[in-house]
Amino acid sequence: MRFCLLGSGSKGNCLWIEEDRKAAVIDNGLSCSEFLVRARAAGLEPGLLRHVVVSHEHTDHLSGVGPLARKFDATVHMTELAAEKASAGVGRVRLKTFKPGDRLDLGPVSLTAITSSHDTVDPVVFVARGRKVSLGAVTDLGAVTHLIREGLRNLDALVLEFNHDVGRLLSGPYPEFLKQRVRGRRGHLSNEQAGELLRELNHPGLRLVVLAHISETNNTPELAMAAALAALEGAEYSPALLAAGQWQPTEIFEL
Ligand SMILES: [Zn+2]
Ligand SMILES: [Zn+2]
Repeated sequence: MRFCLLGSGSKGNCLWIEEDRKAAVIDNGLSCSEFLVRARAAGLEPGLLRHVVVSHEHTDHLSGVGPLARKFDATVHMTELAAEKASAGVGRVRLKTFKPGDRLDLGPVSLTAITSSHDTVDPVVFVARGRKVSLGAVTDLGAVTHLIREGLRNLDALVLEFNHDVGRLLSGPYPEFLKQRVRGRRGHLSNEQAGELLRELNHPGLRLVVLAHISETNNTPELAMAAALAALEGAEYSPALLAAGQWQPTEIFEL
């Protein structure tokens, strides 16, 4: 399995997952042209795309889903509730609906959808399993539930939200209601919350963690990385850590 984040953050998300020359993306908040520019810059073959899977219906995850699916004749997968809410925004596509808890069989890769805690109708995070390895795609959640914790055990790699530094958020420019929203149980994980989850999920088989959905206003990659390193301090084993950015793709990670 190989994967690449083409963009990560509140201005557009897209996670490419590929195995046996078949690819799916989780979310797409990029325009079609931006998707193509970044995919080619990363060294991906956009023509391998077969599936576009949606975690929740916020614009930064959804705005490019319809155009991308139509361009590559890809199947769109959304929960029934999200599809009801967002059908106008997605437009005419080949749609398959799922329920949280379902396992989506996408050929060589399967995705398990786990209910998440976020301010949309039916938010989920995903665990992708290939023939040999597993990857968690965990962003846009305000609280770590038992379900999430259990669902993310024993992964080989993890894309994990390190959204904000609490101090920066509180002293930053966001209006009060938005600060409350981001901090709330249906908002986003702070560096500390993400670090705590990372410490719990760390195990000898966890090879790689990509810090994701890092706020450009309320966080920096350095603060996020410092929180991850602090969380793993003293651990017997430790994954490679990388931070994903908003404006350029990551490298292609091979698992
Ligand atoms: Zn988001
Ligand atoms: Zn969101």
